[in-house]
Amino acid sequence: MKPKLSDEEYKKILPEFTYYVTRQKGTERAFSGKYYNHKEVGVYHCVCCDAPLFNSQTKFDSGTGWPSFYQPIQGAIKELKDYSHNMLRIEVVCANCDAHLGHVFEDGPAPTGLRYCINSESLTFKGE
Ligand code: FE
Repeated sequence: MKPKLSDEEYKKILPEFTYYVTRQKGTERAFSGKYYNHKEVGVYHCVCCDAPLFNSQTKFDSGTGWPSFYQPIQGAIKELKDYSHNMLRIEVVCANCDAHLGHVFEDGPAPTGLRYCINSESLTFKGE
């Protein structure tokens, strides 16, 4: 995994939409990303710094149109309070580089009951 860069550097090296989602807390349209229906075995990494974030074994079909996981890799993410849009949600960011990933909700499946709702745009996939 790579060290965190400055916002200016990310703006230079990331595609515009990737920069918008990961560094400006954007959201891709539902069913528009490349991983919501992706079922290969492997690990999803942070698109900005390459840190491993989610194992494919913890991915499930939420029907929301975003890649959904019931559990992150231990220590890989940070959770922050997000008061935007007049509600409290828990934002999920990369623990290494603070890339915005998505949000976590308490309506997921066993064993955690959590649903990490993640933008495809914030991820890269490495198959086994
Ligand atoms: Fe990262």
